[in-house]
Amino acid sequence: MLSLCMELRKDPITRSWVITGDDVPEVAARPEPFCRFCPDSREAPQLIASVAGTPGAPWSARAVVHPNALYHIEGEATRRGDGIYDRMRPIGAHEVLVESASHDRHLWNASDLEIEQFLLLAAQRIRDLKGDGRFKYAGIYKDHGNSAGQEFEHPSSQLTATTFVPRRVLYELRAAREYFQSKERCVFCDIISQEMKQDLRVIELRGDFIALCPYAPRVPYESWIMPRTHEAAFERFGLNRPGTMRDLGALLRRTLQRIRTITEDFHLVLHTSPNSLHRSGNLGYWKTIDEDYHWHIEIMPILAQKARSYTFKEVYYSPLSSETAVKRLRDARIEL
Ligand SMILES: [Zn+2]
Ligand SMILES: [Zn+2]
Ligand SMILES: [Zn+2]
Repeated sequence: MLSLCMELRKDPITRSWVITGDDVPEVAARPEPFCRFCPDSREAPQLIASVAGTPGAPWSARAVVHPNALYHIEGEATRRGDGIYDRMRPIGAHEVLVESASHDRHLWNASDLEIEQFLLLAAQRIRDLKGDGRFKYAGIYKDHGNSAGQEFEHPSSQLTATTFVPRRVLYELRAAREYFQSKERCVFCDIISQEMKQDLRVIELRGDFIALCPYAPRVPYESWIMPRTHEAAFERFGLNRPGTMRDLGALLRRTLQRIRTITEDFHLVLHTSPNSLHRSGNLGYWKTIDEDYHWHIEIMPILAQKARSYTFKEVYYSPLSSETAVKRLRDARIEL
């Protein structure tokens, strides 16, 4: 159990928030003899939301409270100064999004309908959490495999809502706004149109979506999935355009199948616009966010490779070009 003395501290130089505190477990956690996320679990976590839809299953996907939540929903963040430093309590939401009722249906082997239901649940949860004025950001991520720090055996992703915007998203938001200020165009839309024209790094198109290897990859086989139609908010896109999540689900499944021909371990993250309902007075600086930001999914495969940890942390080192990676991913033999 995570102790409540954990707190958020802001690095005064980079302005990134970190969660810190003394939380060293006294005994190593033992694997549980049962799965708490399976439908018949004896110790089911607290249910938040559920979607039906697949024949023969009690539910298709559901959101539950994370059993060892990093963020807690009760209370106020009470941001405090400490000389030049800033700290606040880790107020937020931390949920497990169970992708399937079945213990072995993953995003790469589930049906289009199952993945669509999971994506719709994700969109609903983000929309709901953005209704809470305390939260500035809500996003989803998935760590799969031992070297990715996977937490649960059962197919699942995680959702956090936080009182701050995570660092990588903040960098993207600032950069997208600057690009928009000088060109009056969305940088992501420009990337998509150039990638489609050049066709050097496109993995696959499906409906309104594109999967590609980014021009400057952080790791080999890094892959992004984006809607080709401009939209800043994933949840608005998913909930306002019925049917599109089916195409996204299919492209996600196929892209993960391709990556799994290279490695089983990966991080996946969904980046979407921050909470525009947040009551902070300084939201003026996100005035053009609906025009300048563009939601997307990033997949970072993890390959066993020579240790370059210093380089890796300061300057990303990716010993395989995107142009080569995309050929292997495109040619990968996948099921469907
Ligand atoms: Zn299970
Ligand atoms: Zn765009
Ligand atoms: Zn991103």
